[in-house]
Amino acid sequence: MADQSFFDEGALVSVLTTEPVGRALDYRAPEGGCFAGAFVEVPLGPRRVLGVVWGAGEGGYDIAKVRPVTLVLDAAPMAEAMRAFLIRAAEYTLTPMPGMLRLATRAPGLADPPGPRRVYRKGWAKPDRMTDARTRVIAVLDDYGGAAFTLGELAALAGVSTSVVKGLAKQGAVVEEEAPRDLPYRRLDPDLAGKDLAEDQAAATCQLRAGIAEGRYGTTLLKGVTGSGKTEVYLEAVAECLRMGRQALVLLPEIALTAEFLNRVEERFGAMPGEWHSGVTQTERRRLWRMAGEGGVGLVVGARSALFLPFRDLGLIVVDEEHDTSYKQEDGVLYNARDMAVLRASLCDAQVVLASATPCLETWVNAEAGKYSRINLTSRFGVAEMPGLSAIDMRAETLEANRWIGPTLASAVRERNERGEQALLFLNRRGYAPVTICRACGHQIGCDHCDARMVEHRFLKRLVCHQCGETKPMPEACPSCAAEGRLAPVGPGVERLAEEVAERFPEARVAVLSSDLFSSARALKDKIGEIAGGTADIIIGTQLVAKGHNFPLLTLVGVIDADLGLQGSDLRAAERTFQLMRQVSGRAGRSERPGEAMLQTYQPEHAVIRAILSGEEEAFWRAEAAERQAAGMPPFGRLAGVVLSSPDVQTVFDFGAELARRDAPLRRIGAQVFGPAPAPVARVRGRHRVRLLVKAAKGAALQPALAEWVRQLKIPNNLRLAIDIDPQSF
Ligand code: ADP
Ligand code: ZN
Repeated sequence: MADQSFFDEGALVSVLTTEPVGRALDYRAPEGGCFAGAFVEVPLGPRRVLGVVWGAGEGGYDIAKVRPVTLVLDAAPMAEAMRAFLIRAAEYTLTPMPGMLRLATRAPGLADPPGPRRVYRKGWAKPDRMTDARTRVIAVLDDYGGAAFTLGELAALAGVSTSVVKGLAKQGAVVEEEAPRDLPYRRLDPDLAGKDLAEDQAAATCQLRAGIAEGRYGTTLLKGVTGSGKTEVYLEAVAECLRMGRQALVLLPEIALTAEFLNRVEERFGAMPGEWHSGVTQTERRRLWRMAGEGGVGLVVGARSALFLPFRDLGLIVVDEEHDTSYKQEDGVLYNARDMAVLRASLCDAQVVLASATPCLETWVNAEAGKYSRINLTSRFGVAEMPGLSAIDMRAETLEANRWIGPTLASAVRERNERGEQALLFLNRRGYAPVTICRACGHQIGCDHCDARMVEHRFLKRLVCHQCGETKPMPEACPSCAAEGRLAPVGPGVERLAEEVAERFPEARVAVLSSDLFSSARALKDKIGEIAGGTADIIIGTQLVAKGHNFPLLTLVGVIDADLGLQGSDLRAAERTFQLMRQVSGRAGRSERPGEAMLQTYQPEHAVIRAILSGEEEAFWRAEAAERQAAGMPPFGRLAGVVLSSPDVQTVFDFGAELARRDAPLRRIGAQVFGPAPAPVARVRGRHRVRLLVKAAKGAALQPALAEWVRQLKIPNNLRLAIDIDPQSF
């Protein structure tokens, strides 16, 4: 890509701001000039706002009135490829540019004036008088033991105004000093000796390296069962990218997986990569954001939002566990990080590696069609074998009331424990019981704000709505008929399963892994480390355990209810169940000891269960793809959701119906509208939600038609409209 153009002082430049003003505005380049892509502060009305110099100004009006750029901020200008990416991502997701730019400027301290930064750390003196606010500031400084913060960070962390911090600084209780400039990350050495690769790993590595060395765009599906050595392979791709002097990004679906990965990076490259997710401190985020732009970091490991870091020269993006639903951002700007990774790479001549044991159907189809290359790792690395899989036909098992572990599974668990091995019982339901019912009148306790049942959490001693997080104490009497002492739990959650395990395996040490039982990612990580070391005999877990953790002593996985995901009308249900079951069963037998997985099911002849058991994956994917194709559904057709929400139910339905009537812009591209219908989650936090689904043929220009369609109506004040391109559920 060409060098960035430079604008001399006084030249007209067009600046895109993060404020919803609709379009880029013209300003004059400041003293000293500025580069295209420069992060700047510009006046907007009476305020100063953050923006990026987008290109030459347009002129064509009274240019004497154009105001100058106030400040050029202390950050490397945004690369041209990054600007192109933001434009295309905005078009694709139908997000206004300011919203897109906000995703790319989530950098603490970015708006600080240039020059040395002032930071604050704990001082030597006692404040003359302690107030509540002052105590909070001191507490934060004590908590972070010696760390230095910018004024804004410290005030925000303590929940006080900046004047409190300044007041403490005057008394020496807080010291103000100049921060050293952000340091580049230690160089990763791609030429340290890696592991000796197995034959299929070496071939895979060769193929990936070729694309990287040629510096061209390409996407590769790296498919292999858990433990087949995918990580090892893509680390070699990272090495090649670093040798080319370009930057690499590895996206992981779960913060809890980062620690293990960081260790592997350090082992392979002799230094730590940059880390980007919600658990990273402000200071570190600021440094990473900057170094991404300056090229001072070679490898970044992060959550989906890392895709919007302003990389100087990105040569490789790895999306690990690419099928994971957490890659879809469901709030604010609705995007799928996997798709955005492909878009970004295609605009900067980078390679994408989509790694998974169970890719999503879209990816599988793209690979079949030759749009993506495909690499298969078919065996587990070394001695580890794939676990044996079997179904337990629950119709033939005798179960006492409120028991969920059948005799067959129970004796398998016992057998493992006697050998000093671990067993995992998988149940994808948090809490104690999914339903609380009144035995007198049949009433089920629901959330007051959502269309969801309240889930009993005994551990918290409360009922919790998994939709909006609302909690309330378990009532004594039925809220409907007032009968006392008649409320009863129905069905199992992991907490209830833990109760059964405690009763039936009194000698076993039991660990429950459910996201709501851990206060932080670190606590969870520590727990996982302990369990891997052998502190538990029976592990009870939700979806959380399906995600790539390594338990060397684990040799048995028992799925309590393999049918759970098969109910419901979601077209993706089969795919999801298939993925989840394969992921979970892949947890067993990851080292020398052979593993086994048992699926409790009431419908062993169901096509999905059969496909899981037989391991005939390709046949499963082909059948699923054929079904989607027949229905004209993604990836063979295009789909978009328009979700309307309002506290007033009449408003959403009326607006939705009116929108559905005015479908001319959609008909012009041959698209159809369905709905309005209650959204998959029909009420959240007191807002009623309806959804219109738009279905179009594959080549249709969907986005412009959608934009024109929704522009026809003025949106009422109490209504929100969100466009969801490629919705997850349909
Ligand atoms: P995946 O990412 O497919 O789950 P990993 O790359 O994590 O698989 O590999 C599984 C295990 O095998 C890891 O413990 C890894 O260190 C080990 N491993 C993989 N490839 C090699 C190799 N070539 N030499 C030595 N150990 C390897
Ligand atoms: Zn709720």
